[in-house]
Amino acid sequence: MFDSYNRRINYLRISVTDRCNLRCTYCMPAEGIPLMQHSDILSFEEIMEVVDAAVTLGVDKVRITGGEPLVRKGIVNLIEMIASKPGIQDLGMTTNGQLLQQFAQPLKDAGLHRINVSLDTLNPGKYRQITRGGEIDKVLKGIEAAVKSGLSPVKINCVIVKSSSEPDAIEVAEYGKKLGLQVRFIRQMDLEKGEFYIVDGGSGGDCSTCNRLRLTANGMIKPCLFNDMEYNVREHGAHKALQLALGNKPSCGTVNKHGEFYNIGG
Ligand code: SAM
Ligand code: SF4
Repeated sequence: MFDSYNRRINYLRISVTDRCNLRCTYCMPAEGIPLMQHSDILSFEEIMEVVDAAVTLGVDKVRITGGEPLVRKGIVNLIEMIASKPGIQDLGMTTNGQLLQQFAQPLKDAGLHRINVSLDTLNPGKYRQITRGGEIDKVLKGIEAAVKSGLSPVKINCVIVKSSSEPDAIEVAEYGKKLGLQVRFIRQMDLEKGEFYIVDGGSGGDCSTCNRLRLTANGMIKPCLFNDMEYNVREHGAHKALQLALGNKPSCGTVNKHGEFYNIGG
């Protein structure tokens, strides 16, 4: 499918939960967030309706995100459901890695292709501080398990304040190099202030080549991360909501006053 600016849209990012087992300083307040009602969160069947409609419209690439996708009950089953859908060429996930050690092989066996693991520093104390309680050992073991399981590629998402020459970023880059993993540097963004940047080593944040739509955990199709627009799949039905998002996808992001990374999924 093509949007009004002739960009080919083939990529759907699905946030499966607003819940998270971490509280990264740049993403969530320390006390957490008012959680969505369970009844507001799309069931797997409802998510699959959106995936089906998206595939019919030409989506062949899906990424599962959150919140933390590995805290959603039955996530491996959802991966299996999406992976077995004809037309899906590329199925990825973005995770903080806290639970990855036990999930890597089941995810691979269920049909997940690739995985991005978030890691901003190699310093255990600093990691704990940034994530407000995360354990770096778990992430590192999770990354090892992901590589061993055959998930490919395994990439690292490293949030930086300003530049990839910050000391933490340099250490993460060296760690990635040692393991042969690509590191993507994501400059800290502020959706409300309209501060967003092109991802260094990735494709996000470049409006002219944007190929994505997003589905939030509570069933909103968002044409742009940096804009408030959203279309409710429960209200419009999946097909119509996707078409509305496609037709109204802005040429470039501006500001998003309501959305946050943890409920849109980055
Ligand atoms: N919980 C998973 C994780 O952390 O990988 C998936 C969801 S998280 C919202 C997706 C990505 O968004 C992560 O790589 C995270 O570092 C990034 N992110 C969160 N808040 C951000 C911000 N304010 N600016 C830039 N990236 C951000
Ligand atoms: Fe959770 Fe990911 Fe946000 Fe960190 S960046 S608080 S791990 S959703």
